[in-house]
Amino acid sequence: MSDPGTTAWAGGTFGERGRCVLAPNPSTMTLDGTNTWVLREPGGSRSVVVDPGPTDEGHLDAVAEAADGKVAAVLLTHHHLDHSEAAKAFAERMGCGVRALDPAYRLGSEGLGDGDVVAVDGLEIHVVATPGHTADSLSFVLPADGALLTGDTVLGRGTTVVAHPDGRLGAYLDSLDRLHALVERQDAMSVWPGHGPVIDDALGALDFYIAHRRSRLEQVEAAVATLRGSASGPLDAELLPRQVVEVVYADVDPVLWGAAELSVRAQLAYLDAR
Ligand SMILES: [Zn+2]
Repeated sequence: MSDPGTTAWAGGTFGERGRCVLAPNPSTMTLDGTNTWVLREPGGSRSVVVDPGPTDEGHLDAVAEAADGKVAAVLLTHHHLDHSEAAKAFAERMGCGVRALDPAYRLGSEGLGDGDVVAVDGLEIHVVATPGHTADSLSFVLPADGALLTGDTVLGRGTTVVAHPDGRLGAYLDSLDRLHALVERQDAMSVWPGHGPVIDDALGALDFYIAHRRSRLEQVEAAVATLRGSASGPLDAELLPRQVVEVVYADVDPVLWGAAELSVRAQLAYLDAR
């Protein structure tokens, strides 16, 4: 969530199989808006839609049009409403199911989990569990285009929030390592994120994310030590996250401090458990 950036991003066509339809829901948390991904094999007749996004008729019409009205399945990267809100209604309209890790967000009997391969008209999507941003976060690999769809696990710019307590920092760090290893094996070269622009250098993006998390953790540890040193008694566990935010995120726009506090809570929980 640092570096809001100013690069124009409007979605578009990526690889031979990807089309990104940008939803009209920009905000400090969603950057330019939610990326809805329409994936189809060249010559195939049906598409897979990842994260239909918010309930907005114009957006859903554009997604249906990008899919030529033929959708075999809707997949969710995670349950957050800016990704999932329209999923069931859109799937009903397209006559298909919604597949998600969390059963509450599914439509139909098919689930979705680590190691699954979604195959539609020659299109192959490999599912990788990447918990951390949320417990139910999934990433999708499109080997034929060397693409890694990351949802909110890796964003197109800035960094993401570990949404404590559903999100867990230990799990998130493990997920980043897992994606890093996957990219190192060259199963994917580019990141097609849930918000913000496509990143051509997936390895560079993951290196940055991992280094950023490490340095934030060190900053949080240092801030706690300083606060402890200047306090007359034990630190108030309820006030501590906000006090740490004011030190560590002093360079970040205060409108993001609420989100930062969630990340700090996740970091304090991680440090406590170590
Ligand atoms: Zn999210």
